[in-house]
Amino acid sequence: MLKIGILNGDDIGLEVVPEAVKVMRAAADRTGLVVDWLPLPIGRRGHETHGHTMPQETVDALKTVDGWLQGPIGHNAYPRSDPTWINPPLRKMFELFANVKPVKSYPNIASIHKNVDIVFLREVTEGMQSGSVTIAGTGEFRPNDDITIGHRVITRRGSNRVARAAFEIARTRARKRVTAVHKEPVFRLACGMFAEECRKVATEYPDVAFDEVLVDGFAMKLVMAPQPYDVVVTTNQFGDILTDEGAGLVGGLGLAPGLCIGERQAMAQATHGSAPDIAGRNLANPYAMIMSGKMLLEWLGHQRPLPAALEAARLIERAVERVIADQRALTRDLGGEGDTTTMGAAIVAALD
Ligand code: NAD
Repeated sequence: MLKIGILNGDDIGLEVVPEAVKVMRAAADRTGLVVDWLPLPIGRRGHETHGHTMPQETVDALKTVDGWLQGPIGHNAYPRSDPTWINPPLRKMFELFANVKPVKSYPNIASIHKNVDIVFLREVTEGMQSGSVTIAGTGEFRPNDDITIGHRVITRRGSNRVARAAFEIARTRARKRVTAVHKEPVFRLACGMFAEECRKVATEYPDVAFDEVLVDGFAMKLVMAPQPYDVVVTTNQFGDILTDEGAGLVGGLGLAPGLCIGERQAMAQATHGSAPDIAGRNLANPYAMIMSGKMLLEWLGHQRPLPAALEAARLIERAVERVIADQRALTRDLGGEGDTTTMGAAIVAALD
């Protein structure tokens, strides 16, 4: 049995997370996977019911789950006095060290490139993002009005574990290739340590091909010819930029799912924000949240291991592909005539 938390988040989170749960529940029913679902307040609802956007009750409950779905957090809507820092502390607190982000094109969805199928792993607990690398305070400071100093943290442990996760994922894929992206010739110590750990881990996976590309050249190759890449592993800030670039190549934010993984738990989280401009109108595209949920089942299926969870993930992927091929139930941003709930319902129907 799995225990999975449901954190709707704000704005369109209240629409797309329930669709993801519907699809996951239906897939789990079909494969005999037993899931104990645990709804937990966060964001504006958390503030209204518990006086805080990240209630302590939610944090305590998250310690007891296998994983959770987290909708986008609509910081803009919070009272100014409220501490709105949610995602970086949660990742840090639960050591969700890698953000796994697939970038996949579909033949009938408008995109800059076709035949793209890349999985990015972005390290998210260290690196250069001040909010992600510190549990209190920030990684930036300004000693006087003319100087600002920012730091970058790279550790052997952090680099080794994200590299290992990349090789484990590559092993489950057809092409079995990992590309490490860094800039070692310039950042000799920081990128150097990251690259050394990637090379060390590569020797333990002789069945997976390994290469390294410098980040500036990689950014160009990704735009011009992304097709050869399979699994790409990189540090926090490089990954922040490259994963959005990747999403842009295959159709944008609505098609960008993600899973933050740790040693024992994972958090399914789409890349997009809470889209207040379309919230409450049943217009939001639920693809990214549904596919993030599918990734959670797949990861738990491999990790525990649980064949019924792996099968549920496979069912969801196939159903999504069918609905995309048929096109009619897709939301308008994908060129369809459907809305959030019709797209979710079509995916549930396509599970059979
Ligand atoms: P956004 O991603 O919410 O929206 C950008 C544009 O994309 C908007 O036009 C929106 O309508 C559209 N869009 C986004 N998701 C969509 C979907 N699923 N279907 C259809 N269209 C979609 O970014 P923003 O407007 O910069 O931010 C809005 C709020 O979200 C802010 O409060 C921001 O802080 C927050 N945010 C949260 C997260 C998170 O919690 N992970 C991430 C990014 C932004």
